[in-house]
Amino acid sequence: MRANLLDYDLEGLARFCERLGEKRFRAVQLFRWIHQRGASDFDAMTDLAKALREKLKTSALVQALPVISQHVSADGTIKWLFDVGAGDAIEAVYIPEADRGTLCVSSQAGCAVACRFCSTGHQGFSRNLTAGEIISQLWFAEHFLRKHLGRDERIISNVVMMGMGEPLQNYAELLPALRTMLDDHGYGLSRRRVTVSTSGMVPIMDRLGQDCPVALAVSLHAPQDALRDDLVPLNKKYPLDELMRACERYLAVAPRDFITFEYCMLQGVNDTPAIAQELIALLRRYGQGRAGWCKLNLIPFNPFPASGLQRSTQAAVAAFARVLNDAGIITTVRKTRGDDIDAACGQLAGEVRDRTSVMLRIDKRKAREAGHSGVATKVEILDAV
Ligand code: SAH
Ligand code: SF4
Repeated sequence: MRANLLDYDLEGLARFCERLGEKRFRAVQLFRWIHQRGASDFDAMTDLAKALREKLKTSALVQALPVISQHVSADGTIKWLFDVGAGDAIEAVYIPEADRGTLCVSSQAGCAVACRFCSTGHQGFSRNLTAGEIISQLWFAEHFLRKHLGRDERIISNVVMMGMGEPLQNYAELLPALRTMLDDHGYGLSRRRVTVSTSGMVPIMDRLGQDCPVALAVSLHAPQDALRDDLVPLNKKYPLDELMRACERYLAVAPRDFITFEYCMLQGVNDTPAIAQELIALLRRYGQGRAGWCKLNLIPFNPFPASGLQRSTQAAVAAFARVLNDAGIITTVRKTRGDDIDAACGQLAGEVRDRTSVMLRIDKRKAREAGHSGVATKVEILDAV
C-alpha cells in the first residue's frame, strides 16, 4: 500500500525518505511542496530529481479527504463536510475575522465522551481520524481559500481543535498533525495560535505539555463535581480537583500565561448567580492565587432537539459575565458564527455511525431520568444481548 504523506510530520517524512534511500533533507523540499504549496502531484514538484519523483509515484501519495459539501454563511463562515469512508463524515469550519482566519478542525468521527449538550456527543463514536485526515482539513481549507480568494499569502492564522471529537482521546494521531501545523516548513503557525480544546483528559494534558505545548482550552461547564459529572461524563474519571491541578501544571509550559475555560451556558442548569459564585470560588482556589491565570469564555448553548436543554437568556449570560468580571476573572462571551449553516459550536454533527455503546449509554441516561419503564426494559434487553 502506498503511504499517505499527509500522515507524516517532518520527522516522519524524513524517516520515510531514508527508507527510500534518499537523504533526509529531501524531506524538507517535499514537505514544503505539500504543505506550503498545496501540491499533491509529484510531477509538479519540479525541483525534485526525476528518479525520486518516479520512486514517490510508486510508494506514496498525497491523499486529502474528499469534500462532500460546502456551505457558506451570510457572515462569511464556511463549513465543509468531508467523507471519511464507511458512512462517516466529519466537518471543519473556517471563520474569517478582520485580524485573523481561524479553522475549527475535527479529531474524531463522533465522540465517546457523550456530553449532554453536544450534538457530536449525541451521535456516538465511530473512529479516530488519522493524522493525515486531521491535517487534510487544514491542507484543503488553506489551499482552497488561497485559490478562491486569489491570494498567495497565508490565509489561516489560527487553528482550534474544537470540531468533532475529543482530541486528547486521539493523541497519537493528533501529535504529528499539530507538529505539521507548527513547523516552519509546514504551516508555520505560532504555538499561541493553535489551541487544543479538551473536556478534561488529565493524563494526556500532561503529555501534551511535554511533547507539544500549544494553547489549551478546557471545557469546564460546571464548578462542582455533581453537576459536571452529569454534563461531562468524563468528570467521573477525572474530577474537578484533578483537572484544575493538571491545568496548573500545564501553565508552567504553556505558550500563553493563562488557560482558557469554556463554559456552555445552559438555562437554569449552570447559569444562576449562585453557580457564578461557586465558579469564582473554584477559580480562586487554583493558579497559586495569581489573578489572570485563567480566562473564561462563555458559549451560549446552541440547541438541538435531542438535548432537551435550552440556551440561557442574553440577560442571564450578561449578568453571569458581569459577576465574573467584577470578581477579576476575565470573561468573554463567544460570538456565534455560522449558525445559519449549523456551523456553530456543538452543532457539528457530520454523519457518524455509532460503533460503540455510546448511544446506548445516552439512552440509558435518558431512561433513568425519564423513569420510563418501557425504555428501560428495552435497554435492559439490549444489555442482556
Ligand atoms: N471535545 C473537545 C473539543 C470539541 S467541542 C471539548 O469538549 O473541549 C468544542 C467546544 O464546543 C467545547 O467547549 C464544547 O463544550 C462546546 N460545545 C459543545 N456542544 C455545544 C453546544 N451545543 N453549544 C455550545 N457549545 C457547545
Ligand atoms: Fe465530545 Fe467535546 Fe462534544 Fe463533549 S463537547 S461530546 S468532549 S466533542
